[in-house]
Amino acid sequence: MKIICIGRNYTEHIKELANERPESPVVFLKPDSAILPKKMPFFIPPFSDDIHYEVEVILKINKVGKHIDAKFAHKYYDEIGLGIDFTARDVQRKCKEKGLPWEKAKAFDGSAVVGDFIAKESFDLENIDFKLLKNDAIVQEGNTQNMLWGFDELIAYVSNYFTLKRGDLIYTGTPAGVGKVTENDVLIGILQGKENFKIKIK
Ligand code: ZN
Repeated sequence: MKIICIGRNYTEHIKELANERPESPVVFLKPDSAILPKKMPFFIPPFSDDIHYEVEVILKINKVGKHIDAKFAHKYYDEIGLGIDFTARDVQRKCKEKGLPWEKAKAFDGSAVVGDFIAKESFDLENIDFKLLKNDAIVQEGNTQNMLWGFDELIAYVSNYFTLKRGDLIYTGTPAGVGKVTENDVLIGILQGKENFKIKIK
């Protein structure tokens, strides 16, 4: 399986990183080895002094598809979850400065936290509330109504480049409030009012 991530999909987050508003979705990949195994803590990797959390809604693809029309995109996922796209911001900054790819900053082991998946029927897809708590304080709050590109548009867009397969995950971008983690922090993801994941930082 593969993990397809969308960058810069929430206006307020684009502003906080002083990025340009993209003309089309910003897309990058993580390998399956990036998934943090369930119940494992996240270990801060030795190559970074600035690991940031980015809480994101995740779609789980349920069948093979290519060049999917946005109006049929809803047939390609049944479940939604919440996760974190951990980012080595210092490494990413260097990559950006040099115009280099982001993999070392985005695709390292443990960088993809995957919470519990829930049937999409449980949600109003264009109005899903989610948040991230760090040590019991809210650090990020988002709602899918504030996405620049909605789920169906994202599926259509990425399937022009990558054949989607059953089990692939799409991280749909992070809202404002990204920030650094330090040892002993506890991160809790809340999806539509319910705890979806809990991660300890080591
Ligand atoms: Zn992200």
